[in-house]
Amino acid sequence: MRKTVIAGNWKMNMTPAKTAEFIKALAPMVAGKDKCDVVLCVPAIDIPAAVEAAKGTNIKIGAENVHFKASGAFTGEISAEMLTEAGVEYVVIGHSERRQYFAETDQTVNLRTLAALNAGLKAIVCVGETLEQRELGYTETLLKFQTKMALTNVSAEQLKNVIVAYEPVWAIGTGVTATADQADEGNGFVRAAIAEVYGADVAETVTVQYGGSMNDKNAAELLAKENVDGGLIGGASLVAEKFKAIVDAAQ
Ligand code: PEP
Repeated sequence: MRKTVIAGNWKMNMTPAKTAEFIKALAPMVAGKDKCDVVLCVPAIDIPAAVEAAKGTNIKIGAENVHFKASGAFTGEISAEMLTEAGVEYVVIGHSERRQYFAETDQTVNLRTLAALNAGLKAIVCVGETLEQRELGYTETLLKFQTKMALTNVSAEQLKNVIVAYEPVWAIGTGVTATADQADEGNGFVRAAIAEVYGADVAETVTVQYGGSMNDKNAAELLAKENVDGGLIGGASLVAEKFKAIVDAAQ
């Protein structure tokens, strides 16, 4: 039985004050929804407010990035230990916006994943193809490569704390959602890559999310697919009612 995880990715939105307000409003809406984990990944500056507001609720808090070194001269970066001490449980790694705008590579995604897992965080590792790569017919090759690269040196035991999010780049923040079949296929390629390394039995236990313009209207159809074990949600996670509706769909 795979765990369904509905995770919001706020990106660079919400201040600490708005964070507290949002979580206070969302908490009663998702209370008792025990068929899925409810996670909000928030900007680093919002983490203390988010952790405080989420106390005593079923909302778990995540970060949007983590550095791969434990400490040192990396101005502006945040370590895994800093996150765990602040009460963070999850962290998004390798989001396509980090890859596109901040020179994230498959190698640094792997290093960040290892740093997160070694610190006891749950890693939400993002993979996904661009439209050009899809049109050239490289979706399967690319998803398998990105997945295997991200998980290099991750043990089967550590894999229990890994969620992979299949996020086609062309569907992120564009309002264009992959069809439920495309999402299921992409998630299936991710699972097949995990199976090639860890075996089919292990791969069956790994949560693979879909992300890319998932919202209150399309969530039920996407989440009904065999290989879709939850969602990583950007825009719709900024509106409590929409996020609640996605959690309801996962129920
Ligand atoms: C995301 O940020 O991971 C994402 C999927 O964004 P959106 O839901 O806005 O497409």
